Amino acid sequence: MSLTVHQFPCLSDNYGFLVRDEATGTTATIDTPDADAILAQLDRLGWTLDLILNTHWHPDHAGGNAAIQAATGATIVGPPEVTRIAPLDRSVGQGDTVMLGETPLAVIDTGGHTLGHIAYHDAADRIAFVGDTLFALGCGRLFEGTPEQMWGSLSKLAALPDDTTVYCAHEYTAANARFALSVDDAPALRDRAEAVFAARERGEPTVPTTIGLEKATNPFLRAPLLRPHLTPADAFGEIRAAKDGFKG
Ligand code: ZN
Ligand code: FE
Repeated sequence: MSLTVHQFPCLSDNYGFLVRDEATGTTATIDTPDADAILAQLDRLGWTLDLILNTHWHPDHAGGNAAIQAATGATIVGPPEVTRIAPLDRSVGQGDTVMLGETPLAVIDTGGHTLGHIAYHDAADRIAFVGDTLFALGCGRLFEGTPEQMWGSLSKLAALPDDTTVYCAHEYTAANARFALSVDDAPALRDRAEAVFAARERGEPTVPTTIGLEKATNPFLRAPLLRPHLTPADAFGEIRAAKDGFKG
């Protein structure tokens, strides 16, 4: 019951994640942003790929499915919408469990960015792979879902233990921090934003994050506090719309 996560940047601002169950050596890639980059990392680590775990159907998440499956024979697991653009062997949704070797990964429906978006949660190790639902200081755009749906999805993630490590699929944190500072003056946010800008200057990643840190500083999770006169979902929707129009 322990996972090793190998994170690496790919495409312009995506992260790739190779995840290995230490007890069995069973290995998965979370999404397939860049087939060549993922295959090169597997080679470098000497890991053999068994599973492709998709979070949603967007090309920077499922676009490498066919090439990686052809090269490794890995089984592809994901939400049904993946078949819009890529092969899928097993379709999963809320309440399903995917075994990575001996480690159970619970599937959490986190629709909103796309309708069939899912996250993978390893409760024992307190690790979650959240795709484009929750970002460090941000959240995914609503391409297919409603504010109500996305607020429900973010609330499920926010209910995980504070010390849960959150692997988000993009390095958007500096831009998210500039927006966050425009809508929220929490002292914890100012300190975090400074740390984020400094880390990015040094070329360091700001992912992973934690549920506790996001609850304290992410304006999308803090929306009901920032817009107390609105319902939580409407408060979230207003902050999301402001971000969509933000020129930082
Ligand atoms: Zn996406
Ligand atoms: Fe994406």
